[in-house]
Amino acid sequence: MTTPLRVLLVEDNPGDAGLIEEILSKDDAKGFSIHCVTRLNTALEQVKTDAFDVILLDLGLPDSAGLDTLFAMKKGAANLPIVVLTSNQDDHMGLAAIHHGAQDYVVKGHDQGVFLCRVLRYAVERHQNEARLRQAATVFENTSEGITVTDAQERILLVNQAFCKFTGYTENEVLGQTPRMFQSGRHDRYFYAAMWADIKTTGHWRGEVWNRRKSGEIYPQLLSISAVRDELGETTHYVGVFADLTEIKATEARIEFLAHHDALTELPNRLLLGFYLGHCIELSRREGQQLAVLILDLDHFKDINDSFGHPAGDELLKSVACRLTQRLRGTDMLSRLGGDEFAIVLDNISHPRDAIQVAQDIIKLISETCRLGNGLEVHVGTSIGISLFPGQGETSEELLSQADAAMYKAKSTGRGNYQFFSDELTLATRERIALEEHLRKGIANGELRVHYQAQLDIATSRIIGAEALVRWQDPVRGLIPPNRFIAMAEETGLIGALGEWVLRETCRQGRQWIDAGLPPLSLAVNISAHQLRYSHMQEIVSAVLEETGFPAKWLELELTEGTLMQHELESVAILQSLRDLGVSLSIDDFGTGYSSLAYLRLFPVDSLKIDKQFIDDIPNDKNDMEITSAIIALAHAMNLKVLAEGVETLAQLEFLKKKGCDTYQGYYHSRPLPVDEFELLLLSNSHFEPKR
Ligand code: C2E
Ligand code: MG
Ligand code: MG
Repeated sequence: MTTPLRVLLVEDNPGDAGLIEEILSKDDAKGFSIHCVTRLNTALEQVKTDAFDVILLDLGLPDSAGLDTLFAMKKGAANLPIVVLTSNQDDHMGLAAIHHGAQDYVVKGHDQGVFLCRVLRYAVERHQNEARLRQAATVFENTSEGITVTDAQERILLVNQAFCKFTGYTENEVLGQTPRMFQSGRHDRYFYAAMWADIKTTGHWRGEVWNRRKSGEIYPQLLSISAVRDELGETTHYVGVFADLTEIKATEARIEFLAHHDALTELPNRLLLGFYLGHCIELSRREGQQLAVLILDLDHFKDINDSFGHPAGDELLKSVACRLTQRLRGTDMLSRLGGDEFAIVLDNISHPRDAIQVAQDIIKLISETCRLGNGLEVHVGTSIGISLFPGQGETSEELLSQADAAMYKAKSTGRGNYQFFSDELTLATRERIALEEHLRKGIANGELRVHYQAQLDIATSRIIGAEALVRWQDPVRGLIPPNRFIAMAEETGLIGALGEWVLRETCRQGRQWIDAGLPPLSLAVNISAHQLRYSHMQEIVSAVLEETGFPAKWLELELTEGTLMQHELESVAILQSLRDLGVSLSIDDFGTGYSSLAYLRLFPVDSLKIDKQFIDDIPNDKNDMEITSAIIALAHAMNLKVLAEGVETLAQLEFLKKKGCDTYQGYYHSRPLPVDEFELLLLSNSHFEPKR
């Protein structure tokens, strides 16, 4: 049972009032309850009680007349629908009343009976609908989501304020267009086809879409599209509601970032470090490279926190992170493990020494005074533990824990230093570094010496040349042979300066011998791979020849097979440029590298030096003897001269002579000698008769 409509009847004519009450009371559809008043003032009092659904208002009252009555009533009862009673078919007045906010009008004595009931009911219904629509319109306009309403052909009919705000378009710019004008080009046609298939079948679609703003910027939306259908199920409209996800995405990205980064320093955290290190280990394993993990912990950081507070501590950590980042290469990864602990992955290092270099730099860097924002100057130090791959672990966890253990060792051995996981490694690397430092000084202090080993023509037994071999005359440790420092000099690049010095010294000496009237000698100088690649050999050799006045044709440069093969095309060009200077070139230690005579054709060289290892077992090892004779024969076929290295016995020499080897050097005749002894040898022994 529905409740009756409550009518406030404002009518001063008792006859009219009685008639109306009678009509309404006869209505049996819903029923009316009527309260009748005769004056406007009383009516205005009544509407305050909220007891009515509709007002039936006669415009001619004792205390008010005409439209003024309506205005007063509207003001007093803004929320109630008003139906106006006019007299004698006064349509004009009725229409004027509607124009000024009445829901409808009824002409007394004419529009009565059922009609009156309908008018009242309809007035209430329409009033409610209008209120609802007003509400909907407010929501539509004020919602924070963008809304687009299109017709069935997807032409835009309506958009709201939020739509304009997000897209940058005004309503006028988009009315009549289709939403395709917002497409970003990020989705292919299959995406839209699937979307429309959903809308057609379920009447709904929801998902993330990239669209384009008027400015051209593309941005993510969370969009839902609904089809509006009529009673027959035909689509009449589409309503699209979307939220701009730009900020949400940015927040998501930030959360994602924070999951893998430390919030304070923004450095990768332990999790990300683990992933990255694992990846580096795989790569190093595949490529046969080395990597190092450094863990560093600030010394006495707790004191800073305790004495100056956590904000100061935080600032210091940020500054440390910043300084470390600046020191490292782009490929190194710095991570904060938590607290005052950082980790560094040095990818692809060529020697443990590289890790030490970084560790030493960091210790120095961190120990520098740090001035905080408030002007406070603080000092901290750091202890570093180092682990290496391969060698000290197969997984990232193992490497990190070894580095950690090493770091504790560093702390316990007095802070402000670094330690490897193993003592031997720490020691060996330190020694090597000390040696490097030492050699650097040695070179500067003129502690290098060149010794000369005679090279003899096998047919005539005459000294026709000498190989210049470097030694290091250390004031404390005595004479140090090259095999103790050449490799290190190559790795550190010191070989550049060292090699240039040997070259210059040898040419200077050669010139001096010529000037002293000694028979001209071919002087051979060893050139390392590093020199060939990184020094401008052609310029250096030509400058040295010019400077010393040593004739180019008497200078021979020795290169090993390995050196040439490393960058063969580059090597060919450099060798050619050296040869153009007039110097001759030989391949040292031949047979120990690729040993491909055919390959050698590539290189513009003059001679080969058969490595000592093939000579050693002559005449006992048949194999070596065969190799040696083959090398000699093939070299001659290629127009190369052949020298045998490390000849210690007469038997070896005789074998070589038989096979037609051109020259030799070795202890059988003489060891590498210091200049004065070599000069004596030259004077006394320019014709060397093999002893029998
Ligand atoms: P290398 O160029 O193959 O030099 C020949 C080495 O064999 C020399 O060793 C020499 O003393 C040694 N030797 C010669 N005859 C005999 C022999 O009959 N028996 C034995 N057991 N050994 C013999 P050294 O002087 O110790 O030099 C070793 C290597 O150091 C050289 O091998 C060369 O590769 C390198 N080296 C020496 N000086 C220089 C230099 O100035 N620059 C460069 N880059 N490398 C150098
Ligand atoms: Mg040599
Ligand atoms: Mg050699």
